[in-house]
Amino acid sequence: MTDPQTPASPERLRDSLVHTGRHGVPHTPTANPPVYRASTILFESLAQAQRTGPLTTTGERHATTYGTAGTTTTFALMDALCEVEGRGHATRAALVPSGLAAITTALLAFVKPGDHLLMSDSVYGPARTFASGMLARLGVNTTFFAPQASAAELQALVRDNTRVLFLESPGSYTFELHDTPALCAWARERGLVSMIDNTWATPVFARPFDWGVDVSLMALTKYWSGHSDVLMGGIVIREALWPTLWTAMRQLGLCVGGDDAWLILRGLRTADVRMRQHERSALQVAQWLQTRPEVASVLYPALPDHPQHALWKRDFLGASGLFSFELKAGTTPAQVARIVDGRRHFGIGYSWGGYESLIMAAQIGSLRTVSPWQGGPLVRLNIGLEDPVSLIEDLEQGFAAAFAA
Ligand SMILES: *Cc1c(COP(=O)(O)O)cnc(C)c1O
Repeated sequence: MTDPQTPASPERLRDSLVHTGRHGVPHTPTANPPVYRASTILFESLAQAQRTGPLTTTGERHATTYGTAGTTTTFALMDALCEVEGRGHATRAALVPSGLAAITTALLAFVKPGDHLLMSDSVYGPARTFASGMLARLGVNTTFFAPQASAAELQALVRDNTRVLFLESPGSYTFELHDTPALCAWARERGLVSMIDNTWATPVFARPFDWGVDVSLMALTKYWSGHSDVLMGGIVIREALWPTLWTAMRQLGLCVGGDDAWLILRGLRTADVRMRQHERSALQVAQWLQTRPEVASVLYPALPDHPQHALWKRDFLGASGLFSFELKAGTTPAQVARIVDGRRHFGIGYSWGGYESLIMAAQIGSLRTVSPWQGGPLVRLNIGLEDPVSLIEDLEQGFAAAFAA
């Protein structure tokens, strides 16, 4: 009987199985960086391995030690984040598995027990839950402030132990803007670290480091990906603060896979054209909604009658495709459901920033403490890349279904 391990000895075939196809294969000059999947990264010598150490590097750019510290694929995305979000400022970038993880990691890195945090009342709900949940458990207290608060109003809330100012502009669901440059200048004077969730605007429509923020956080899950098929968070941070963030990243063991990083890089290539189309279509749908008798207001900063339109014009380069509209007081939950349900083009789903339109009723009752929502029921739209005329027809049918006599 033939030995199944022939032609070489059993040992030799096993050697081949381990080594074959790995060495001396030239790097193909593809347009896109290759996907690296890695835990182990090989060193040339023991001396080189001992010089770097598995997880003890100070986070020098592109230092390869172990998969969790990054590979060519994740370094390519980190460089892209610094270039397009950092916009000429000296920044570093970190990647984490979700947008929420970007928020929680950045906060954890910069607070310790006994510290105090100032957070906008209009932030993404889970950011708020993290502050009043885990951070409170760790002995960090949070004071929420009305999103339109001025630096003078923050001055009345700040304490000696305040460490971080946390912003999101425009705010989730209600789209209030901060006077971000004024608040960041104030934070810098007080020695606070300023952080902003810049998921809505993306680098196409905002340059947060020009506003003076220290840390820009984004759910790459949304517009950077653009295709609703990958979860990732990005943290872009001023270089001087990088060692603090990097230390937290290493201690928490946070990293992302090469396949996911590659998907975000691919989405990024078309971000500018997508964002401009989202803006054009969103404006068209928003303007139509303003003509509807069922609608009390449309919460979209690009509309001239948004209460902070002037601030938006001063600070932003455009508006993305996510906004809310307020139905007239007295609209019933059943009527809201008939607007939302059964749309041809609008899916019902959380998240946003993808190519496909989404509709969702907002439940912000418990989400606000210092600036409760006083208006009618809110519906949030993610305007995708469909023809805006089709989207308007779709909503028109929803209104007809909801308000049929
Ligand atoms: C969705 C979202 C996040 C979180 O992103 P995930 O990747 O879904 O965790 C953070 N901030 C804002 C404003 C968001 O809308």
